[in-house]
Amino acid sequence: MNVRFLVLGLALSIAAPASAQVAAQAAPRYWVRDVAVIPLDTDEVLSHRDVLIEDGRIRRIAAASGKLRVGDATVVDGRDKYLLPGFVDAHVHLATEGGIRASKDPTISGLDLGADHRYDRHVMLSLLKAGVTGAANLGGSVGSDDDLLRLRGEIDAGREPGPKLYVGKLINGPRAAVAVRPDGQPVPASKPEAPTTAADGIAAVQRAKQRGYDFIKPYQFLNRETYLAIVEEAKRQGYITTGHLPELGCASCADRAFAFAHPMTNIAHSEELARYGRIGSDLAPADIEALAQAVADSGMSVTPTLVTLKTIVGMYVQREVPAVPHGWNDTVDPVTRRDWAAPGNRYLSQAFRDQEGADTFSAGYDFARVLTRALWKRKVPLTVGTDAALPGLAFGVSVQQEMIELREIGLKPLEVLRAASLNAHRLFDPQAGSGAAREGERANLVLLDADPLADIHNTGKVAGVFTQGRWLSIGEIDRQLAQGAEFERGLQRQIEQRKAAAAK
Ligand SMILES: [Zn+2]
Repeated sequence: MNVRFLVLGLALSIAAPASAQVAAQAAPRYWVRDVAVIPLDTDEVLSHRDVLIEDGRIRRIAAASGKLRVGDATVVDGRDKYLLPGFVDAHVHLATEGGIRASKDPTISGLDLGADHRYDRHVMLSLLKAGVTGAANLGGSVGSDDDLLRLRGEIDAGREPGPKLYVGKLINGPRAAVAVRPDGQPVPASKPEAPTTAADGIAAVQRAKQRGYDFIKPYQFLNRETYLAIVEEAKRQGYITTGHLPELGCASCADRAFAFAHPMTNIAHSEELARYGRIGSDLAPADIEALAQAVADSGMSVTPTLVTLKTIVGMYVQREVPAVPHGWNDTVDPVTRRDWAAPGNRYLSQAFRDQEGADTFSAGYDFARVLTRALWKRKVPLTVGTDAALPGLAFGVSVQQEMIELREIGLKPLEVLRAASLNAHRLFDPQAGSGAAREGERANLVLLDADPLADIHNTGKVAGVFTQGRWLSIGEIDRQLAQGAEFERGLQRQIEQRKAAAAK
């Protein structure tokens, strides 16, 4: 079952010239007064603490005395609130201006996006609104990647609000090279943009390094030798790999033992394992246990993306896009909204319903839940990923939805919160500390109005975030989102006009 968007058009472009060097703005100092700190690396809750944040780091965590001289620091009232590591979406496909520009869809390409990156800012603010202070992009168009590589630098320098971005390079072979049922398509000649040889796979990884990507996403239509070359070259380059497992069944394809013997760092969906667990057409409970054990033995971690499958199943069963959680409708921008509607939304298409195995989608969601539970029982590190903005999954709030999914299969709130922060930190940024709310760690934090250890739904009660050491209250985030509302309406008008012109 492969129900994910295929990312097409991987032609390399020339790297964008370095933007003008504007001095990075120094992050101000903050005192969070009298707050409960949940560090997450242990099970303790540190009640009534004052927390000093300076130069993007947690400088001090001290017993709240009310007597500390805060000097020029900005005071954030932490009373009855909870401060913990911010959430990370470990599997997202960020919508960007670059993606719009690269689009071949006449209703989308060439939209007037203005000159001040409002579109990208809106997406970044939507993530922050949900307490998401880290996001790993698992591949998009070259245009969107250029945009994200630029944006990553702007956010790091404190010139744009946003989560810490990790930009992944998707590397995939041509589908025809490994199609399980040969359909007569000739296999195109190998090239680094769509490699079918080890040499081109290695070249693809090296180009990604030159362009400054953060990690590699191997995709499933890579043959055995190319897949292996990419995984090994990524390791040599100091990259982690998170992606899809290679296809099974063709002469040049990997088999199950091969994939587990040459593991990626992380598997990007639990659904990927469904292909590997299926013997014949059914999934037996014993297979799930054996599969979970194979994952544990391989050392791979997993991003289950349960909410993704749930949403796809919802579209299949209801024949409509599930509603986004209350209050989040306005955060979905007009271009994304259009992608979610028919005919752009392939999950609502007849072709999608007609594909073989469509009647087992619901079972696939059940399978993923049972498998993820078996992985958790074996202490396989899990992370929180959403595949947003897949139809129905809004940036930001979908992270909260996935946390609820993990809670529902049995993880304790503390374990869910670790999956949403520390585990992602270890996966994408292992050199940058533990990610816990401790002195010396980077100040990517979320402040909640209610205790998330008591009820995971409280992760939705965001009072504000520290991102790269800068405080943004929820009021400020909403104010900045509202500033962009007129721009969003303008985009909507442009799209309506183009649709009307096309209909004539
Ligand atoms: Zn994805």
